[in-house]
Amino acid sequence: MSARRIDGKAAALDLRQRVAGEVAKLRSASGRAPGLAVVLVGEDPASAVYVRAKGKATIEAGMESFEHQLPADTPEADLLDLVDRLNADPAVDGILVQLPLPPQIDANKVITRIDPDKDVDGFNPVNAGRLAIGLHGFVPCTPLGCLKMLRAELGDLSGRSAVVIGRSNIVGKPLALLLLSDNCTVTIAHSRTRDLPAVVRRADIVVAAVGRAEMVKGDWIKPGACVIDVGINRVGPVEPGAKGRLVGDVDFASASEVAGAITPVPGGVGPMTIACLIRNTFVSAARREDFRYGKDL
Ligand code: NDP
Repeated sequence: MSARRIDGKAAALDLRQRVAGEVAKLRSASGRAPGLAVVLVGEDPASAVYVRAKGKATIEAGMESFEHQLPADTPEADLLDLVDRLNADPAVDGILVQLPLPPQIDANKVITRIDPDKDVDGFNPVNAGRLAIGLHGFVPCTPLGCLKMLRAELGDLSGRSAVVIGRSNIVGKPLALLLLSDNCTVTIAHSRTRDLPAVVRRADIVVAAVGRAEMVKGDWIKPGACVIDVGINRVGPVEPGAKGRLVGDVDFASASEVAGAITPVPGGVGPMTIACLIRNTFVSAARREDFRYGKDL
C-alpha cells in the first residue's frame, strides 16, 4: 500500500488565494488593508528565513507588512515598548514576535504583552485560555494548519482516535484541544510515554510534533491511518557550508507504505503554517472592521 501524499503547498496556495479574495473585499469596504507587524530580534538565520517568507506572503495577499528588525542585544524593555506601540497602532491588525528570543528577553513576558486581539500567533495566555474553553480567539498557526489538512483529507473527524506526539504550548497542546473540539478521542504522548509505538498503533490520526528526525517508524502506524508530520529536522553533513536536508519526525519511506495519507517534509505542514498566519491576520482586521467573511476560511 502506498499512502496518499497530502500536498501542503497546494492547500496553502488555495487558502492564501481565498484570503486574498476576502482581503480585496475588505479593502474596498473599509478603505484600508489589513496589516501584519513582524518583529525579529537578532540574526538567527532560520528565523530570518521565516520572517522573510511571512512578509512576502502578507504582501501577496494584498495586506501591509511592517518588519521590525532589532539587534541581538536589544534590552527587554525596548522590545516591550515596541510591542506597546504596535498594540496602539490602528494600521496593525496582527503582531508576531519571532521566537526564539535572545536570553536577556523573557519570551513569556513579551507574548503576554501583545494585545490578545492582535495576537495572530495565538500564543498569548488569553488566547490559550479561549481555546481551552471554546471561545473565539486566535489559534496558533501550525495546529490550525494541521486541523485544516485533516478535515480536508478525512472530512468529519468525529469519533476518530488521535495521538498527538508532543505537548508544547505552540503545537502539541493546542492541536490536542482542536482535535478534541472536533470530537476526536485524543491521546497526548510525550517523552515519558510508555511504549509509544503501541500507543501510536491505536490511532486513526497521528500527529508528530517532537523535533526528532524520523523517529516514528512505519511499523508504529495503524494501516490506513492519516499521518501529519510537523517536525522540521536538518540532517546530513555537518561540515561548514554543507546544507544537509530537511526531514520530519516520521520516517516517510516506511510510514508511506502503511498509512492511508501522509504529509511530506518539506511541503506539508510548513506552507500551511504561513497560510494560517495570513488567514489569522485577515480575521483580526475583519473583526476590527465588523466585516463578514466566508465561514470556511
Ligand atoms: P518542543 O521541543 O517544544 O516539544 C517537543 C515535544 O516532543 C515535547 O513535548 C517532548 O516531550 C516531546 N518529545 C521529545 N522527545 C520525545 C520522545 N523520544 N518521545 C516522545 N515525545 C518526545 O517542540 P515544538 O512543539 O516547538 O516543535 C516540534 C517540532 O515541530 C520541531 O521539529 C519543530 O521544528 C517543528 N515545528 C514545525 C513547524 C512548522 O511550521 N512546520 C512549526 C513549529 C514547530 P516532553 O514534554 O516530555 O519533553
